Parts: sequence; structure tokens; C-alpha cells
Amino acid sequence: MDQLESPHSVCPSNETVRIKQRRSVTGGVNLLCTVAIVPDRILVSDGFGLRLIYGLPQVYLKDKRRYMDFASIKKIVQSDDLTRNLIDEFVEKGIFYRGYIFQCQNCSDAAWHSISEVDQTFTCRRCGLNQQYKNRHWRIPNEPLWFYKLDEMVYLMLENNGHVPLLTLNKLSVSSQESFLFRPELRITPKSSEEAYLEVDICCIMDGRLCIGEAKSNNSLAGKDLTALQTVERYRDLALRMGVSMVVFSTTENAWNQASRDAIRMAFENHPHIKVMKLTSSSLYS
Ligand SMILES: [Zn+2]
Repeated sequence: MDQLESPHSVCPSNETVRIKQRRSVTGGVNLLCTVAIVPDRILVSDGFGLRLIYGLPQVYLKDKRRYMDFASIKKIVQSDDLTRNLIDEFVEKGIFYRGYIFQCQNCSDAAWHSISEVDQTFTCRRCGLNQQYKNRHWRIPNEPLWFYKLDEMVYLMLENNGHVPLLTLNKLSVSSQESFLFRPELRITPKSSEEAYLEVDICCIMDGRLCIGEAKSNNSLAGKDLTALQTVERYRDLALRMGVSMVVFSTTENAWNQASRDAIRMAFENHPHIKVMKLTSSSLYS
């Protein structure tokens, strides 16, 4: 799509680097839609659909990150088998890292240590003391537990609501009959300007039909500098220029607000050849 002759230039948005990293550790869009962990919730697939669960059991350390052990993950997925499989898969793909949580005997700092940094001893990151780990460094239970850390790029992607375009792409992907191609978010900039015209969250080809769209974690299409109508009009105008067949507006909220629904209707009512799809939490998580 970057090759199209156009009065606009197209480049990856800031999110793209994250998404490329994310893809490199996961191998594709589908896996992260299978299970994704965000700061206060986890998204799991139990074979029947996606579920969002809040209030995770966890260990929080001073770095404000959560570290989960086997029992914590099992409380979410409710199965020894699924927990084992999830951990194996995530460690293999570099989504989880395995380590220990030890408390320093010198400065009392409790921290997670990757197993790549631990042998018969560990070194406190705060005071630098190298020490042999004994029961007093972890206390409970009798042997040290594995704790799993989420990959940093996956964490940042989820913290910045990157799961919304991911869920949207997943929904479109499973809806396609024959083929599905996608690329990460794009920044569209007029060639005569340095100011971005639009950041397109969704850009894919479903069964040979080009689709673009917006994905948000709130219920309004209004942006920092644009009203809901201005946002939708930009998508409509871009769709007309690019020959887009479908425009999707997805939110992880239960519904778009009234202003956004009105904006979608007004912007596209005279362009019935462009299919408009509105996705909300009920369809994204099903
Ligand atoms: Zn220390």
C-alpha cells in the first residue's frame, strides 16, 4: 500500500515499532488475542470465546509491575493443563520470562531476577551485594517459586491499549472467508505538509477488499484535536481516495456515544457503496 500513487505519504505510526516487536515475539495477530495481560486485567480464551477478567492475584513490586506464579495464573484460567500450556507457549515465544523474587539481606529490596542472571547466587540491583539465596530471601514456600514477567514490549503495547486494534484485526480476520492481510497502524500525511492527516489504526485486506478503521478504548471518536464528526469525515475522505470497501469503527466499550453514532451516520449516508462496520465489546470479546 505504500507504493500507491497518492497526494499523501504513508509511514508507520509510533505504534508500529511496538507492533512489529509484538509480532516478532508472538508470531502473529491471533496469539495475542488468545491471551493478553494488561495492567489490571487479563484476556483469556477458554475455547468458547474471549473473557476479560479483573482483579488478578499477583505480586506487585516497587517497579509497579506484576509478577505471576503458577497458582496466580491458574486462578484465572481455572485449569492445570491450560496453565501449563499457557506458560510453555508464552515462555517459548518470549512473552513470559521466568525468574525468582528475592529480598536482599542487606538493603531489604525485593526484586524479580531473571533466571539468566541467577546461578547459586544473586546480586541485589539496589545495593550490589552478591549473596547466596536461602529461605530467608524468599521465605514462603519451602522452595523458591517461579515468577513470570511479561515481555516489556508486550506490556507497553497493552498499557497503551494496543489490544483494541489487535482485537479488531482478530475479529476481521476470523470473519474473512479466503484471505486476510494486515499491517500495523499507519500515519497518513499529505505530501505538501508535515502534519499528519490521520493515524489509521486498522488497515487490512479481507478477501481482497481494502478496509481501514479506528479502534478506541473509550466510547468517543473525538480525538485530541478533532471532533467525532471530523474524525469520521477524514476516514470517509480517505476511503473515497483509496477505494476502500469497508470502514470499521471499533471500541472496547459497550457502545459508541451518541455523537459518534451520529457522526458515522452523517458522514457515510451518501456513500452506500462503502460498508461501515461498528464493533463494540460484545463482538470484540466474543
Ligand atoms: Zn540490596
